[in-house]
Amino acid sequence: METVSKRDIRKLKLDELKEFFVQHGEKAFRAQQVYEWLWNKSAKSFDQMTNLSIGLRDMLKEHFTINHIKVDHMQRSADGTIKNAVTLFDGMVVESVLIPTEKRITACVSSQVGCSLACKFCATARLKRQRNLTPDEIYDQVVAIKEQSELFFGRPLTNIVFMGMGEPLLNYSNVISAIDKITSQKGLNMASKRITVSTVGIAKMIMKMADDGVKFNLAVSLHAALDKTRSSIMPINDTNPLDELGDALRYWYDKTKRKVTYEYVVWKGINDTEEHAKALLKFCKIVPSKVNLIEYNPIDDGEFQQATPEVLDMYMHLLESHGITTRIRKSRGKDIDAACGQLANKS
Ligand code: SAH
Repeated sequence: METVSKRDIRKLKLDELKEFFVQHGEKAFRAQQVYEWLWNKSAKSFDQMTNLSIGLRDMLKEHFTINHIKVDHMQRSADGTIKNAVTLFDGMVVESVLIPTEKRITACVSSQVGCSLACKFCATARLKRQRNLTPDEIYDQVVAIKEQSELFFGRPLTNIVFMGMGEPLLNYSNVISAIDKITSQKGLNMASKRITVSTVGIAKMIMKMADDGVKFNLAVSLHAALDKTRSSIMPINDTNPLDELGDALRYWYDKTKRKVTYEYVVWKGINDTEEHAKALLKFCKIVPSKVNLIEYNPIDDGEFQQATPEVLDMYMHLLESHGITTRIRKSRGKDIDAACGQLANKS
């Protein structure tokens, strides 16, 4: 396939692009122009680069491709949520979601094709991990949603969450490169504080992020604050138990001074007792934090079931009475399988 054998031009750094132009007898400033087309303007073809001569565009086409993602299939939910099925240059597919609210438009993006983590309640886990996304495949998902946001809602994209398919901290360097582009003036110029990376809670990577001085927000998919329960639903907890996670979060907070958000689903018969709520409260005291109680989106025949509203109230009361901000997050896009944990390339 032609597209794979040519080099993907977006793999080149600005300096490398300059070098390419000079080697081919062109002025170095052309690189700047092309770079701007590629990143600032998200050009999907060389023909869009109208300030380059046709000859120059042809020369670029001979050497390079732009492996831009393709949004093949777009579904709109009754609540306005849009789910994109995105085809990558090698034919693999990931999903990303646009979530509109009154004040915000949030892009929920994927970081891997499938996922290796095997959380028992998550549909993406069933796809297994196929490969990591490249920085530009992550970036392109954001661009696609930014364009949809402007086209369908007449509003700018305001927030980005890494809560699509995959575990962002197991594709750390590509996620960081994508975020660098998203926040750079040469890219989308978005503020880091509007970006949230969600993780299953890999302790050593949380510490690395703190060391790297990242400026985005951290969310941890906690779901249980007792080891036995957490291990039974999230196998990662066997090698990465709660006390190690707690230590890593302390390290994160000491270095970044940024609050952590815990994502937590309450299920019948799994974590719906006061003992569990108290354990969560204790965990929340490790570092300043807030809690999102997420509605469960059923993915199968009923092994997991959403707890009753009374149980959620019990959690809410206990946490709020101890000063922990707690929100109940209703699902969006359920009718098109676009809600948390439902991304599984079904259509
Ligand atoms: N791997 C990262 C990013 C995925 S985010 C992480 O685990 O944080 C997807 C979020 O949806 C996570 O909080 C995950 O625990 C949650 N989730 C997974 N399956 C779900 C389901 N069926 N219903 C509700 N939330 C779910």
